[in-house]
Amino acid sequence: MKKLLMSFLLIFCIGCTFTFPNETNINVFAKSKKETIMIDAGHGGYDVGAESNYGDYEKDINLDIALLVGKQLKSYGYKVVYTRTSDSVSWSDDNTEDLQMRCDLANKKNADLFVSIHLNSSEYEANEYEIYCDFNNKNTVKLSNSILKQLDQLYYSTNRGLLDTNETPLYVVANNEVDAILIEAGFISDDSDLYYLKNYTNNVATAIAKGIKKSLNE
Ligand SMILES: [Zn+2]
Repeated sequence: MKKLLMSFLLIFCIGCTFTFPNETNINVFAKSKKETIMIDAGHGGYDVGAESNYGDYEKDINLDIALLVGKQLKSYGYKVVYTRTSDSVSWSDDNTEDLQMRCDLANKKNADLFVSIHLNSSEYEANEYEIYCDFNNKNTVKLSNSILKQLDQLYYSTNRGLLDTNETPLYVVANNEVDAILIEAGFISDDSDLYYLKNYTNNVATAIAKGIKKSLNE
């Protein structure tokens, strides 16, 4: 009888172990699987960026897109960190210090990836989206192509493709120790791009997030 009771207790204990796995272990497992992504809403605070014909500031649309990209990536299980989450910025109004601070934040927050979001502007007629990355960095080229592929499915503008930061150096890509890209999601100076970016912001953000997820999963 004693033996039977012991066996029963043993089976019960094993059952408990398998039924209620240690929660800490699950979190450690999830963490080791998922990257930390820093989303950088271009400009902000003293720096409004480009301006539309109707007085919209690039910094505000960048932020709207950035927050939605982050939200979507979080729903996929990634850890998301931001350079800014509002119009109040933590850096000075010196442009180089501003950009360096964004690169420093990527390091400080242990980001695996830095995605900067901007809008283009031109006095001439132009409507396009494009992504700047270092053509010598296979990871960011793959990531950028994956995002462009998702944006293509929205049919809101023209795909101008990838641009090499070795030819056009951009501070947050060139000076970042973390793999970095800069997305120009459309032209704020173009009425059609602007309309889509303002009214279908979530579509643009979801496409960017999906592109990131697909690239990291492959
Ligand atoms: Zn910009």
